[in-house]
Amino acid sequence: MADSKGTLPRVAYFCMEYGLDNRFKAYAGGLGILAGDYMKGAKQYDYPIVGIGIKWKQGYTDQFIGEDGKPYDSYRNYNYDDFMEDTGITVNVEIRGRNVACKVWKLEAFGNAPLYLLDTDVPGNEDGWITGQLYGWFGEERIAQELVLGVGGVRALRSLGIEVDVYHFNEGHALFAGFELMREKMEDGMTFEEAWAASKNEIVFTTHTPVIQGNESHPVDRLMYMGANLGMKPSQLRRLAGDPFNMTVGALRLSKKSNAVAQLHGETANQMWKHIHDRSDIVAITNGIHQGTWVDQAMLDAAEAGKDLWEPHLKNKRALIDLVKRKNGVTLDEEKLIIGFARRSVPYKRSDLIFSKPEVIEPYLKEGKIQLVFSGRAHPLDDTGKAIAANLVRMSKLYPNAVVFLENYDMEIGAAITRGSDVWLNNPRRPKEASGTSGMKASMNGVLNLSVLDGWWPEACQDSVNGWQIGNAFESDNLEEQDDNDREALYDVLLNKVVPTYYDNRKKWLKMMHASIQSTRDAFGVKRMLEEYYDLLYTA
Ligand SMILES: *Cc1c(COP(=O)(O)O)cnc(C)c1O
Repeated sequence: MADSKGTLPRVAYFCMEYGLDNRFKAYAGGLGILAGDYMKGAKQYDYPIVGIGIKWKQGYTDQFIGEDGKPYDSYRNYNYDDFMEDTGITVNVEIRGRNVACKVWKLEAFGNAPLYLLDTDVPGNEDGWITGQLYGWFGEERIAQELVLGVGGVRALRSLGIEVDVYHFNEGHALFAGFELMREKMEDGMTFEEAWAASKNEIVFTTHTPVIQGNESHPVDRLMYMGANLGMKPSQLRRLAGDPFNMTVGALRLSKKSNAVAQLHGETANQMWKHIHDRSDIVAITNGIHQGTWVDQAMLDAAEAGKDLWEPHLKNKRALIDLVKRKNGVTLDEEKLIIGFARRSVPYKRSDLIFSKPEVIEPYLKEGKIQLVFSGRAHPLDDTGKAIAANLVRMSKLYPNAVVFLENYDMEIGAAITRGSDVWLNNPRRPKEASGTSGMKASMNGVLNLSVLDGWWPEACQDSVNGWQIGNAFESDNLEEQDDNDREALYDVLLNKVVPTYYDNRKKWLKMMHASIQSTRDAFGVKRMLEEYYDLLYTA
């Protein structure tokens, strides 16, 4: 990459959520964490990038555990006046036949490139609720939110006088920005076909979930009723992405290049969308993390200098133990192995796989040889996800000294667990985990990954050298068969390799921590990711 970035394309990055700081509740999970790290990387490495997002009044749910051991949701109104600057600009978007004013805020407070946030909670707006809750709803309300992000976002850029060469949609939520780009061109006299081709040339797209239900779609009638067509006819919407109109398909057809978020995900995504003709190529760009946010510099320095890693690690482990004590009143043993597992609560991540044969795991938990720290949030409307969290809470009551569930998973908890655990456990049903950045945070902190070969891990894993692989990339359409296979593989490596190495071979453990840090610090940093975005997406 050239030193001078003056000639690089100027990028506007659109995302529904940004995980920039724990005080700023504008994120739900991995998508937002990626966007937050990207914006910080853009600032740190001086790229001509601005972000477009939404100022969520209530953010995502705060999810606590009730007396009955079940998660419940709670929302409050946030005030971000300390972080944000009023640009003085308001743009208008017509939604469901009504004019919606969107105020534009600027946020640069967290070491990030400029992020412009749209806000409908302004006096005189009947539709102030639109920017109320992140992912609060699925139907018309979601479309309204996406119209604010996409259409409002492009109009904000115009009003601010920010010139843009490339529009980057992080996930399909931003697709209506592409409709607005087309509308502008049709207003200037282009035909639908011409506007499509010209807009496509300015747009790149990052696709995420390999879970088909995770890819949002809407009946064309609903898009028309909401005014999301921006002047296009129903037949034209169908040509873009079918009926129901699939937002991911639309983004794949309205972009010049797309990317998946890990190499394996590149294969999965190409397979998943191979029946879609006229779509952009999907290249693979593995996610990277912003070290300044997630990684303890003392660990990086000690690893670089070949110094002892246990002392700085123990400091992080104690910080996690303190956090657990403060939040849950449980005192974990710093001498004993701590395994961390923090996730959105969704079935494919299989948070409770490790408990599925109690006769195998129970003796280790009773003896305290294995201590498990969990955290997780489910989508407020996802009862299955909540049942998973409730089951983990039940386990923490069954093994009160060895199993902990930290309620209301957030960036603070995420950072503490990926710094202070000894092992990071990851056992999704392959190949459902697109990337998984938590494992990267862990590995650079010398927290050893114990993971199935999914997401980013096949690229990094050197088994028994810098972490461990669970099983051999087994996949099956029969869920029971897959779970049986992976559970046995997990027990095998956990009980025959991880536990003995931790207790009986500290020298090897330290060597592995060293290898974990050194083998991942550059390859999975946001710097490499940004370079690849420029090489493979923005300038390609
Ligand atoms: C890092 C992080 C994520 C991303 O997690 P993955 O499950 O690895 O994708 C999500 N939420 C929080 C709070 C995080 O810190």
